[in-house]
Order: sequence, then structure tokens, then C-alpha cells
Amino acid sequence: MPAKMKGNLYTHSSEETEAAGARLAESLQGHEVLAFFGDLGAGKTTFLKGVISSLTGCSPDEITSPTFNYLNIYEGEFPVYHFDLYRLTATEQFEGAGFSEYLRGDGVCCLEWAEKIESKLPRETIRITLQHQGNDCRLITIL
Ligand code: ADP
Ligand code: MG
Repeated sequence: MPAKMKGNLYTHSSEETEAAGARLAESLQGHEVLAFFGDLGAGKTTFLKGVISSLTGCSPDEITSPTFNYLNIYEGEFPVYHFDLYRLTATEQFEGAGFSEYLRGDGVCCLEWAEKIESKLPRETIRITLQHQGNDCRLITIL
């Protein structure tokens, strides 16, 4: 990912956060792991609506968090794997379900609540942290 994508940015609406996700998507090659950190309602899914709609052409309205099934798969130029690990209780559960292969294979692997599998994240993982800054303001840090 280009160095210019990294660092802090502030958004002031969900539209701005989605647009930031779409911008990031343009710099992806198709084999990255994107790890998302941040509280409930911080904007992880909103950011991913931008990323996934940009990568696959599907409508942002169709992109929802796979809270109960852990994984949604989208087809585009390359596959996009969207995980929501909120309900995961142990890293071994992720491995046991056979999900680890998605961290290594082709495609872009996006993980909400990535801290649940911190020890499994590849070294080159792109880390995206969203923080509430009051009202509709969010601080987004990309590392
Ligand atoms: P998460 O996936 O982190 O739990 P969501 O993206 O599902 O969060 O929800 C974020 C909520 O906050 C949405 O209701 C969205 O409309 C609202 N919101 C308000 N301001 C922003 C902003 N600047 N960026 C992202 N979401 C925002
Ligand atoms: Mg979410």
C-alpha cells in the first residue's frame, strides 16, 4: 500500500468514512489483509461498505456485518472475505472453522474485531483503527 494512504484522518459523516474506504480500495492489489479495530458503532462496517463496493461493484446497501455467521464472501476481480469476529471467543475457533486459509490465499481479507485473532495476523497486515471523537466525527488511523 502506498505510504500516502497511511496515517491519521478525520471524517465527519458516514459518507466520508465510506469514501475513505473506497479510496483505500483503489490502492489494493488483491492479496491484502485489512484488520479493523474500534468500538461498536465506530464505523468499521461503514468503512468496509466503501472498500467492498469499490472492489466488487456491489451496492453498499447489500454489505452488512456477518455478525452471526462470521464470514460473507463477495466476488469481484478477486474475492473479498468480510469477517466479523465480535462473537468469537477464542482464536482456536477461527482456525477450527478453517478460516486461517483466508489470511494467506488470494483475495482481500477484511476482519472486524481483528484483535480476536491478533496472534494470527500476518506481519504485513494493514491495520485500521476507528475511534469516536464525539457526534459524527471519527478518527481513522491506518498503519
Ligand atoms: P461498527 O462496524 O464499527 O460497529 P458501523 O459502521 O456499523 O460501526 O456503524 C457506525 C454508525 O455510526 C452508523 O450508524 C453510522 O451512520 C454512524 N456514523 C456517524 N458518523 C460516522 C462517521 N464519521 N463514520 C462512520 N460512521 C458514522
Ligand atoms: Mg460492524
